Amino acid sequence: MQETAFNVVFQGLNPTTGMPTRAYSAASSEDVSEAAERACRAFRRHPEATVRADCLSTAAAKLDAHADEILTVAMEETGLAEPRLRAELSRTTGTLRLFAALILEGSWVEAVIDHGDPSRKPLPRPDLRRMLVPLGPVAVFGASNFPLAYAVAGGDTASALAAGCPVIVKGHSAHPGTGELVAGLIAKAVREAKMPEGFFAFLPAGGSRDVEVGVEIVKHARVRAVGFTGSVPGGTALVRIAGERPEPIPVFAEMGSVNPVFVLPGAIEKDAAEVAAGLVASATNSGGQMCTCPGLIFVMNSPQAERMITAMREAFGQAARPTLLGPRTRDNYFRRLREIGRTPGVCLAIGSLDTPQDARISAIPTMLEVSYQDFKSAENLSDECFGPETIVVRCGILDDLIEAARAMRGSLTATLLASDSDSPAARRLLPELQDRAGRLIVNGVPTGVEVAAAMVHSGPFPACSRADTTAVGPLAIRRWCRPVCFQNVPDSLLPEELREANRLGISRVVDGARIEARAAR
Ligand code: NAP
Repeated sequence: MQETAFNVVFQGLNPTTGMPTRAYSAASSEDVSEAAERACRAFRRHPEATVRADCLSTAAAKLDAHADEILTVAMEETGLAEPRLRAELSRTTGTLRLFAALILEGSWVEAVIDHGDPSRKPLPRPDLRRMLVPLGPVAVFGASNFPLAYAVAGGDTASALAAGCPVIVKGHSAHPGTGELVAGLIAKAVREAKMPEGFFAFLPAGGSRDVEVGVEIVKHARVRAVGFTGSVPGGTALVRIAGERPEPIPVFAEMGSVNPVFVLPGAIEKDAAEVAAGLVASATNSGGQMCTCPGLIFVMNSPQAERMITAMREAFGQAARPTLLGPRTRDNYFRRLREIGRTPGVCLAIGSLDTPQDARISAIPTMLEVSYQDFKSAENLSDECFGPETIVVRCGILDDLIEAARAMRGSLTATLLASDSDSPAARRLLPELQDRAGRLIVNGVPTGVEVAAAMVHSGPFPACSRADTTAVGPLAIRRWCRPVCFQNVPDSLLPEELREANRLGISRVVDGARIEARAAR
């Protein structure tokens, strides 16, 4: 970033002490324009897959080599614990390597060849070849709660670079030091791999420029798509801005999610306390600051349900008071928590609706309870409350659970706890949940997202602005591409991927097809 006399200076913050860390300089409007223009020029140079893969692998190696340094800064800026951040870093470097391997294998371009037939009557059939091509410069916005995996070197950046899209990262104001450090390592990897200059840019934001920098990036004509992870208000604002551009662009916004859990009677027949412990551990994981924490737990009234609820109350009472990510997370959390607490019929089971008054930015883990009748009459209980909170909804009959599932807002996950004896009820519930969530979990907890080919990290609105894709796993690369058909284009003018498919005699390039065909020669 080029320093100018007009750069806004802002302070980083340590939420554990409530003290400032150091000063950072926010990107100016000129920095935004320059990054977008450079990204556009870099895009036109179309680095080959081998070069992009080398860049991704080099970036992963650099992050691994600087792990301790990165974790020290990330811990200071987020208050998240070291083991959690170490696991997040390993997931981040794993994702960079996954995309390097994906583009070397090559079938992600989904090349399809339909040979022409000049002798077809009454009209000759044209020669058609299709493949995915990159969209162009991509803007990436990360979230406060994942300073590594949904941030500068996270899945959006990895998948966009892999696709051949230059990336402009809008720095998060809650972890500017982590962002700066990781961005420096990615920039080095870009240079060492000899990627075109400008293929990656990091634009810090904060102070009076925290929102402006992002808005300017999304409005810039050179930017062709946006990857966002964060709150529903933030994501929907950017979707609107991108849609109002003279040339609208897609925004893949991963947003807030309430992650409902439905407990059927058989699941708590044997050990209601164990089920309760698992649910509370998931709801308070990372201080309840996970996009997949369970915010609503529906259970049918019974003596076992009472045992489960009592055990949950006890576990919430014993859970440590977590440090929250920052003042904005705290303020949003308590505003939402008090809104829930004021809802008719909702009662506080344990915890507190009051903001702790010490220097550390924190909250007391809190559980609320409500009957299904009151839940149904309330308008606002199905929205996310981002923090260490959960609501238990006491239901009378199975139809209450089915009705609740049908009325849920879109979520990243939906969880069903059931035993074999619950099968008829499970068979009724699961299709309803499938309609409302991107990932269905049976007899588990929603926290813990595996990076794998079958993973879906997305869901109907408001969990995501685009339920037709995923932010995690290899399919994430498809967000940054569009299909192009080449009609009667001579082999010498086709992209290398289509030429190779033709050489190998493959008309449908599916997983592993190129490797098998190459080996057969
Ligand atoms: P956030 O406040 O929405 O911030 C996310 C990013 O968007 C930040 O860079 C922020 O900039 C920017 N931003 C926010 N509002 C904006 C606006 N109106 N215009 C332009 N830019 C805007 O969210 P967060 O507090 O960082 O993250 C927590 C939320 O993320 C939770 O709701 C959580 O569930 C969700 N999340 C979802 C996933 C998922 O995969 N679905 C994963 C992790 C987190 P500044 O910070 O500089 O203001």
